[in-house]
Amino acid sequence: MVRVRFAPSPTGYVHIGSLRTALYNELFARHHGGSFILRIEDTDRNRYVPGSVENLLRTLEWAGLTVDEGPYLDKDGNIRQKGESGPYVQSERLGLYKEYAEKLLADGHAYRCFCSAETLESMKQAQAAAGRAIMYDKRCRAHEPSESTRRAEAGEPFVLRLKMPETGKTEFADAVRGQVSFENGLIDDQVLMKSDGYPTYHLANVIDDHLMGITHVIRAEEWLPSTPKHILLYRAFGWEPPVFAHLPLLLNADRSKLSKRQGDVAVEDYRRAGYLPEALVNFVALMGWNPSADREIYSKDELVAEFNLEKINKAGAVFNREKLDWFNREYIKSLSAERLLDVALPFFIEQGLLSRVGENLLAHPDGPDMTERLKRVLALERQRVDRLSQLAEGSGFYFAEDLPVDPAVIPWKKSTKEVAADRLSGLLELAERLPAETYADPKALEREFVGYVAEKGWTNADSLWPMRVALTGLAASPSPFEVAWAIGQVQTVKRLRKAITLLS
Ligand code: GLU
Repeated sequence: MVRVRFAPSPTGYVHIGSLRTALYNELFARHHGGSFILRIEDTDRNRYVPGSVENLLRTLEWAGLTVDEGPYLDKDGNIRQKGESGPYVQSERLGLYKEYAEKLLADGHAYRCFCSAETLESMKQAQAAAGRAIMYDKRCRAHEPSESTRRAEAGEPFVLRLKMPETGKTEFADAVRGQVSFENGLIDDQVLMKSDGYPTYHLANVIDDHLMGITHVIRAEEWLPSTPKHILLYRAFGWEPPVFAHLPLLLNADRSKLSKRQGDVAVEDYRRAGYLPEALVNFVALMGWNPSADREIYSKDELVAEFNLEKINKAGAVFNREKLDWFNREYIKSLSAERLLDVALPFFIEQGLLSRVGENLLAHPDGPDMTERLKRVLALERQRVDRLSQLAEGSGFYFAEDLPVDPAVIPWKKSTKEVAADRLSGLLELAERLPAETYADPKALEREFVGYVAEKGWTNADSLWPMRVALTGLAASPSPFEVAWAIGQVQTVKRLRKAITLLS
């Protein structure tokens, strides 16, 4: 049975690379009918940011990732845990790490190191000055066990280090990178337990992966150099290591490592900027993996069906924002009207265009319900945007009760105020006279208004331009018939009437 895990450290936000790691683990688990486990690696107390676990859980949920075992948020927003191999939060497992660390010490695989921070610092400086590799010089390995125990019992602070073999190689077959080999002589005697009694990442990670029955460790490439240490720890414990798969780095366009300095890397930033979770997931899935050369849009189920470790690239994957925009545009176009309303509404609320009052969506405290109007606005605007936020930006005119219009913009540029006022008076008369059903169809409105203009012998420009500006207040916008359809008869009439007044 496949068991994989996503093991983030709660350091604030969710990096886009972490989303990819989590996603690949989930896809792999689902593809094999296995389990996807979430484990919080919070033993580095200096890096801990309060609220990050909640944020992480919300972000995973937003992205549509579902965890089989591990922490989750209940209905009231409290963190709970599910699964048989818990607790899934490392700070709740400290006793276990201590127990296993003592076993390593007793079996001679680890030793106490009493070197102070100052000693280590001067060691480092001497090595740097001599142009040698910076690593612990293993001086505390020489202590007799009885001496080491005596000093510990006397209360001297110490860390526990792994006794690395000094010769030979540690090799393993990585599912992405193939056979990899590390010289043991170049690997530090890794600290396993810190003087504060907390385990390091390496110790806790190996113990947990073993105790939680993890079969495949799928993680970022930056952990590749740590893997020989992990393999040696598995050996020291007498455990079988899992399969390792190290994912390629995410790169900026200039091939530097994707970092916060050069733009958005937090998944939350993409959510706020108006990217759809399904678009982001599709995009992220194809950063470093692609099941076929001629296809890019995959639903989650299709990703699950196709996913395999063999097709993950070794080379770094460039993060291409234009490509993400393309995915998002495609997904925005293809959403059902109901779902588009659900995902777009928060942006209209945030921009102050609408607010939810009970069952209603209001633009003004005593105005009418705007749900239908919003649906129509979305139907018009969805074709033109890359991001959900753009649906709300510039859409204020649809919801205004008393739209401000600059009278100078109303006449067509080769026409006059008088002509515009004359045309608008005729169009107003038509707008009032049309039956309500005509306002249910923008094409019907177009036929009526264009037919009327032709009948009068007017030009479209000198009559329909003023109509469009009267309805929108803007020099560029959707057509007047689409806008009339979206805002409805009452507002159409009101806005035409107001424009005429402004011109007189
Ligand atoms: N806690 C590590 C991280 O934040 C986990 C690395 C791993 O998956 O082993 O990336």
